Amino acid sequence: MKENVYAEEKIYMGRLPQGSDILVSLGEIAKKNGIKTGQIQMIGAVQCAVVGYYDQDNMAYKTLKLEGHYEVLCLTGNISLKDEEPFIHAHVVLGDDKGICYGGHLMEGTRVFAGEYIVRAFAGEEMKRVFDEKTGLYLW
Ligand code: ZN
Repeated sequence: MKENVYAEEKIYMGRLPQGSDILVSLGEIAKKNGIKTGQIQMIGAVQCAVVGYYDQDNMAYKTLKLEGHYEVLCLTGNISLKDEEPFIHAHVVLGDDKGICYGGHLMEGTRVFAGEYIVRAFAGEEMKRVFDEKTGLYLW
């Protein structure tokens, strides 16, 4: 088990630009502010979405493209280092016009209609991702 202990250092709160890619924008926020370890949350709405489902048997992501508009009911994630760069890992729950939910591992291609984020930056030892053979994923 790997576990680090952190003191919260700074909290960033803001709005993502309309039309921007959520994953790219969150990565830019982390890089711009030098955040190497932290927590992300966001709510809002998207113009379209791309989410992943990790196929454990084949150790590969299946991609689900969601055309159309969705509420971002919950986006939660973290920031840590992968190859010495801030890396965003986020999961999202999206609701349609009937309240039906879709969700998965946030991927590039998810476009902001409106997005309010809170990013918490942690002070302390950097959390780093390394390749894990058992899962085929880059984990802490
Ligand atoms: Zn994931």
